[in-house]
Amino acid sequence: MKIHEFQARQLLASAGIPVPHGTMVTTVEEAHTAARALFAGGSKMAVVKAQVHAGGRGKAGFVKVVKSIDDAVAAAKFMLSHRMVSPQTPPDGLAVGRLLIADAVEIAHEYYAAVLVDRTQGTNTLIASAEGGVEIEKVAATRPDAIIRVALDPIAGLRPFQARAVALALGFRGKALGQAVSVLSKLCALQHMTDASLVEVNPLVLTPPSDIHPDGQVMAIDAKFAFDDNALFRHPDIAAMHDPAEENPAEIRAQEFGLSYVALDGNIGCLVNGAGLAMSTMDIIKLHGGEPANFLDVGGSATEEAVTEAFRIILSDGRVQGVLVNIFGGIMQCDRIARAIVGAAQTIGFRVPLVVRLEGTNVAEARKILEAARANIPSMQTATDLSDAAKKIVDAVCTHA
Ligand code: GDP
Ligand code: MN
Repeated sequence: MKIHEFQARQLLASAGIPVPHGTMVTTVEEAHTAARALFAGGSKMAVVKAQVHAGGRGKAGFVKVVKSIDDAVAAAKFMLSHRMVSPQTPPDGLAVGRLLIADAVEIAHEYYAAVLVDRTQGTNTLIASAEGGVEIEKVAATRPDAIIRVALDPIAGLRPFQARAVALALGFRGKALGQAVSVLSKLCALQHMTDASLVEVNPLVLTPPSDIHPDGQVMAIDAKFAFDDNALFRHPDIAAMHDPAEENPAEIRAQEFGLSYVALDGNIGCLVNGAGLAMSTMDIIKLHGGEPANFLDVGGSATEEAVTEAFRIILSDGRVQGVLVNIFGGIMQCDRIARAIVGAAQTIGFRVPLVVRLEGTNVAEARKILEAARANIPSMQTATDLSDAAKKIVDAVCTHA
């Protein structure tokens, strides 16, 4: 599960990590009120930030530093009425329903700090860089030496000498060094305590020297968390932060029917049973030059109604130009799938080519049902095996498109 930046900031603040003050709003009017309060409270700059579960907001124009209430309102108006498109969103972008209106800070330097589960190392790992900000992906790809990695002891976490070594390597000096050590230690502890698979602060900033902070202040001005869903039962406060508006609506609908749906980038919809069969179906589609649009795993015990819903979900995806049904009936009975295909043809209609490959329990019965309905499903072909099925759907989609 992911959360919004304004929620992530709350978690950081509760762990004692300095975060600028901010308010979450959902309308232009609320944005106006929040900005007025910030400037009235003495802020010289504010920042308006789209709250969506995707990064790259700065470059997309959805993080705006503003110096007046009017500019804050204009930025809010723009963000709430445009979809945000970045390399981390779907091609048609994401609708923005929430904004963070926060105190903006002056920045002397931007750092990167993250704690994540490193599966190859088998440890939680602290990752830090003195070259944080919006170009971190480029830095990681071209200059891996600019990234510091520290494997964390599962019990001791980040030890004090490690925190100090990292903070020094990042270039923190004077009073800012102690602040950086504290922030890094708290970040590691927070990742562990919340069962997060990722805590990322980018940028972690050092502000310019001021009277109160003669060597600058270390602050988090962006934050991202991902949590292990299987541990959420231990964190009701975090589970309550879940925002269904950020989920793929097809995935939610699938969940309601006990189906699992995964959206991909291609144009062939796949209805399968079992994760293993889903993987091999995708592989073989790709082998034959096609690209799956999604896969919908109906599992073993889905009812005819749920399978019909599965077709509805697949067919409601505008990118789907063909559907491949690949079922190996064990617990799932092939005739149930066949009936659902016939039902879907009647209630929804297959506007795109359909290739069906069924094997296993009750397959003879299933074939009879499909044969009898063939006249009503003109776009249907049947296949003898998985290769045959993949070839047929890839050909059909090419001809259809
Ligand atoms: P992201 O692009 O989605 O990662 O959004 P960020 O919150 O990281 O903001 C992107 C960039 O906007 C940051 O790297 C900063 O350079 C700039 N920015 C964000 N907040 C502030 C702020 O409070 N003050 C200043 N001066 N710049 C900011
Ligand atoms: Mn960022």
